[in-house]
Amino acid sequence: MSPLGKEALVAQFSAYAAHVDTAILGKAYDFSAKAHGAQARASGEQYFVHCQSVATSLVEWKMDLPTICAGLLHDTLEDTPVTEAIMRAEFGDEITRLVVGVTKLEHLEYSSRDDVQAENWRKMLLATAQDIRVIVIKLADRLHNMQTLGYLSPERQQRIAHETMALYAPLAHRLGMFQLKGELEDLAFKHLWPKEYADLEAKVSALLAARESTLRKFKEAVEKALAKSDIPHRILSRTKSLNSIYGKMQRQDKPFEEIQDSLGVRIITDSISNCYALLGIVHTEFKPVSGSFTDYISIPKMNLYQSLHTTVMGPGGELVEIQLRTEEMHRTAEYGIAAHWRYKTGEHAKDLHLEEKLNWLRQWIEWLQDLKSPREFLDSLKTDLELNQVFVFTPAGEVKPLPAGATPLDFAFAVHTDIGYSCVGAQVNNKMVRLDYQLKSGDICKIITKRGSMPKKDWLMFVKTARARSKIRHYLREKGIVA
Ligand code: MN
Repeated sequence: MSPLGKEALVAQFSAYAAHVDTAILGKAYDFSAKAHGAQARASGEQYFVHCQSVATSLVEWKMDLPTICAGLLHDTLEDTPVTEAIMRAEFGDEITRLVVGVTKLEHLEYSSRDDVQAENWRKMLLATAQDIRVIVIKLADRLHNMQTLGYLSPERQQRIAHETMALYAPLAHRLGMFQLKGELEDLAFKHLWPKEYADLEAKVSALLAARESTLRKFKEAVEKALAKSDIPHRILSRTKSLNSIYGKMQRQDKPFEEIQDSLGVRIITDSISNCYALLGIVHTEFKPVSGSFTDYISIPKMNLYQSLHTTVMGPGGELVEIQLRTEEMHRTAEYGIAAHWRYKTGEHAKDLHLEEKLNWLRQWIEWLQDLKSPREFLDSLKTDLELNQVFVFTPAGEVKPLPAGATPLDFAFAVHTDIGYSCVGAQVNNKMVRLDYQLKSGDICKIITKRGSMPKKDWLMFVKTARARSKIRHYLREKGIVA
């Protein structure tokens, strides 16, 4: 999307927040344009175009007014004579706080040294915990920097692309901003492995051309089947991001030609019960591939993602992945956390569930804070950011989402700290297992506890989650068993 000018920004903002006074947005626009003046970027473009681009992304993600103003102003403290005091006098406390937050993150650069990198992540996560909008601005900033990366020296390109892959894309994923995550990854992928990228891009566009008519016929067949009911719906085509196709090729050690679900369709409807109703129609009409159905509606992913996934055989024998979701789930899937700042009909009503949804993030950051060694911190961070999750049940049927590779001990600490502390054994599906057993989705796990029992030092060798690790460490430190 090309950067919007002042009137267009205001108009697009007002389209979703009709009753909000936009005077301050125009003011921030003029102020930033004047402050950056004739400054230019490496591309030769006027510096202010960068600020416009950041604000344009934020409007596209339908963020609130202070966030968009802060997006316009985000580099003024760093790169122009404007001081914090001037900004506070002109724009008030909230906008200034956001800009200061972004400015603090400016100097975090990717490092191959564990301690430096761990410290960077810590700062980033702390900023997130204080006000998540700071990270959203930072992500918009990073997106535009990645889009204009070609103008920098090759060394800087590599460093920034690497940092984007290692730090920003996973964070976007954790915030549920999937569209952005795919975009950041593809841009980084292009700079890190140009040859592989070009190769894959050519193959995917050839495949798209070849499969276009198949996919169109499939959509028509679905449309015809669904038309028999009067359930409201719309059908969208879907292509996977290049980086995720590439990742799958690597993981499964398969050539591109054998990756099945690079194409698919999404069916979007108005309510949860209609998702299941439409799924019923789809499964009656097309043969589902056994084992392909996943219900992320009753068991949402940790990053709030919800949908039904199924793979079916099309009229020509082709396999197509179908995702079914409501409009609201679709918004969350596209914009993630950002979707929750949406203005409710005219009022700036706060999303009451947002706090609740962000709680896990704060909690998680707290556990991470507790980890002493940089290596341990980075490892836990990486595991917890992992996309792969398993869903494990308590004997009472309550579900606990855990990262892949989690053990009964991780499960015990996920249920309750005291259960973790006094754990002496575990049963999975009614059989005794070792405490380092790797849990699988659908496992029913029962923790055996003994009063007065204590955590063991060697538990640290195999627990996977930051929560378990930090709790065990905390205990051992109190008893003077570890430093
Ligand atoms: Mn910037």
